[in-house]
Amino acid sequence: MSVKTLLIGLDGATFSVLDPLMEQGAMPFLKSFFAQGTRAGLRTIVPPLTPPAWTSLMTGRRPGQHGVFDFFRMDSPESRHIRFFNSNDVQCDTTWSLASAGGLRTTTLNFPAMFPPPRISGYVVPGWVPWKQLRLACWPEGLFEKLKAIPGFNQRELAMDIKLEEKATEGISDHAAELGPWIDLHARREQNLTHVLKHLTEEDPSDLTSVLFDGVDKLQHLCWRYLRPEDDKPLTEDWEFQLRELSLRYFRCLDVLLKQLCDMAGPQADVIIASDHGFGPTYDVLHINTWLERHGYLAWSEAAQSRDTQGALLGVGQVAKHTWLMDWNKTKAFATTPTSNGIYIVVSDGTTPGVPASEYQAFRQRLVDDLRQIKDLQTGQQMVTEIYTREEAFPGPHSSVAPDLTLILRDGGLVSILPSPDEVSKRPVVSGSHRPVGVFGARGPGIKRGFAAGELSILDVAPTVLYSLGLPVPAELEGRVPEEIYLDGVVKEKPVRRAAAAAGSQAMEQAAVSTEVEDEETVLERLRELGYIE
Ligand SMILES: [Zn+2]
Repeated sequence: MSVKTLLIGLDGATFSVLDPLMEQGAMPFLKSFFAQGTRAGLRTIVPPLTPPAWTSLMTGRRPGQHGVFDFFRMDSPESRHIRFFNSNDVQCDTTWSLASAGGLRTTTLNFPAMFPPPRISGYVVPGWVPWKQLRLACWPEGLFEKLKAIPGFNQRELAMDIKLEEKATEGISDHAAELGPWIDLHARREQNLTHVLKHLTEEDPSDLTSVLFDGVDKLQHLCWRYLRPEDDKPLTEDWEFQLRELSLRYFRCLDVLLKQLCDMAGPQADVIIASDHGFGPTYDVLHINTWLERHGYLAWSEAAQSRDTQGALLGVGQVAKHTWLMDWNKTKAFATTPTSNGIYIVVSDGTTPGVPASEYQAFRQRLVDDLRQIKDLQTGQQMVTEIYTREEAFPGPHSSVAPDLTLILRDGGLVSILPSPDEVSKRPVVSGSHRPVGVFGARGPGIKRGFAAGELSILDVAPTVLYSLGLPVPAELEGRVPEEIYLDGVVKEKPVRRAAAAAGSQAMEQAAVSTEVEDEETVLERLRELGYIE
């Protein structure tokens, strides 16, 4: 058996960073990859956020259909309790479960929403799992022991090290001494993932082999200024130039890993590179709950008003504890997570406080009109450029637990949910934030060379992977196989097959690992680890 299809995920990769790196000679392999294959912008789903976007890439379906909207999830529309997302939330087939049901083997490393791991044929090392849980998280049983036997295997550096991520996101004083080792860690972590993948493939190759590198996203969040100094004031200090050099070194290392993976797959394999969203600079912060309060939509509880400063700084506590930070007798609209830019409306059932159901539409429209008046500090332009209602953004069976409104900010930024003296404030230095258009690249025997395709959808990736594997594309997948990227005659010879219904059955069947509701400490710890702390 040999690798038929190699899928490489680059979290947050964007051409505005990659193109200059390729031109400057920092990513010679990626440059040759696109010269020998096809490239395109890849439009993501709403919201342009890592867990829902990768889940859409993996399933070919939007969040209202697959059930992952955010890092968090409410269990029911009435529940104010939120918990971290996991693979049980994905209530439809993934590319991997479909491949497995089609009799193929898959290996998947470091993708989100894979814990507890699905019982697919092949290997699963889930992403977004703290390193101490790695043994429990791997599928099949015995895989962890196999990994440990690989010379040079480093458990701590393969999974996430919470302590280090915490240090990076909380303790960074924007100085090379602290940020530098953290950047290098991500390079090493990805070397480790590549090493493991090569080892597993040599010993026991899979038809579909996939790996996700998330360092690109992390670096771009914290190091945007060093990657694209043209988006802010010029670099002047030695340590700033040093951080720029370290950031570039990360991408040079990544380029080497991409080459190693493509060499491993061989010239007969299709290689697909995709990101879950794009990236761009962000300058302002919208303190959404403060804005809602000042405009009469939200009231803080007494507990929130008497909060200590430390609590306000950490802020993350609000995600788990927002229930006691708000006065539920007066609050009509609120944001619970700092990640989704989502606003929930409190609807009264006739006996509880909130907006009467009969007034919901008018209330929501008034809120939308008010939100459109917010101006950003940088240009005085409208700050909230797009507002999606639940019906627009999340049609499907999971719609009822999705936010009532989802905001897209002009600079792609994420809102802050913390109480603040200002409704809008300026970031001390530019940082990176998600944008709707990421990257797509494909190379293979049937794929056009040196071709720039028109913009594709992230929902097209799953059909493209299935087509590459020779499998039918289930009818419920929302994207398409982009036939324009194939050489003349290829699709005629091997037509795209659409299947009436998903053949896979493994999607719901996860390994028997307990996923009891996580306690608040775990939620906080995970958030720190993911960098969502102000
Ligand atoms: Zn991402």
